[in-house]
Amino acid sequence: MSDETVVPEGLGIRPHTARLYDYFLGGKTNYGVDRKLAGESLRAYPNAMVAARQNRAFMHRAVRHLARELGIRQFLDIGTGIPTAPNLHQVAQQEHADARIVYSDNDPIVLAHARALMTGTVEGATDYIEADVRDPDLILEHAGKTLDFDQPIALSLIALLHFLPDSDAPGAIVTRLLEELPGGSALALSHATADLDPDMQLLADAYAARGLEVRPRTHEESLRFFDGLTMVEPGLVASCDWRPELEDDGPQLPGMVDRSEVGVWAGLAIKP
Ligand code: SAH
Repeated sequence: MSDETVVPEGLGIRPHTARLYDYFLGGKTNYGVDRKLAGESLRAYPNAMVAARQNRAFMHRAVRHLARELGIRQFLDIGTGIPTAPNLHQVAQQEHADARIVYSDNDPIVLAHARALMTGTVEGATDYIEADVRDPDLILEHAGKTLDFDQPIALSLIALLHFLPDSDAPGAIVTRLLEELPGGSALALSHATADLDPDMQLLADAYAARGLEVRPRTHEESLRFFDGLTMVEPGLVASCDWRPELEDDGPQLPGMVDRSEVGVWAGLAIKP
């Protein structure tokens, strides 16, 4: 039986970003159509797997920093992705068992696997809403059922905003989400860029040829999402350079990964 036969006929399954990312992370929640584009993507941008893993590792370190060093106990994670252990709540609840997390994604396949995101501690809470980040008010309203908007909340938009073209005004969406969060809240963000390896644009072209929009942004463009916030050191950097000492297994050995391989800018900032 070929891989393609696992997709029931007539469903018109098209490749999807969440399943491609899952493939690049070594996951199994992807179909033949995804793996076909994944192959094309890897030919265009051979660093895709390293970049995905390094992005995921940044998420872990950023959450560890938020929980451990900034004492944040509430998280709103938009563009969650297909569950891949450890998920954000597992990292956060390792630091604070009572941490509360609201996840959101617009891909039904993430919803289908959301049970794996609801496995948190008894003291804490996790919730999931299927929503598009382009509807921030819906997400905020739903998040209010689980999160206390009088206490700091970390908003994570990790490897998400490059799926929004300029015409979606992603900056205004970030502003709207942050508007509702109290002072002391935080933004953790990573964003695909062609600055570190120009082949990222070829990946975007490969996606575009299959109907998926990716908009790599420069350092300057990515930094604009943090307007009005106070950047945490070391600022907006290649994902591998963001506080490598917070890695679970200790810092990576120098030279193990080069910033030309990671393809995303990553940073964290605090709302004054
Ligand atoms: N944040 C996770 C997953 C990144 S993959 C991580 O960094 O490990 C990007 C995710 O964003 C996918 O799950 C995809 O379904 C989701 N996504 C893409 N466009 C979206 C949109 N407009 N609204 C909400 N989620 C979106």
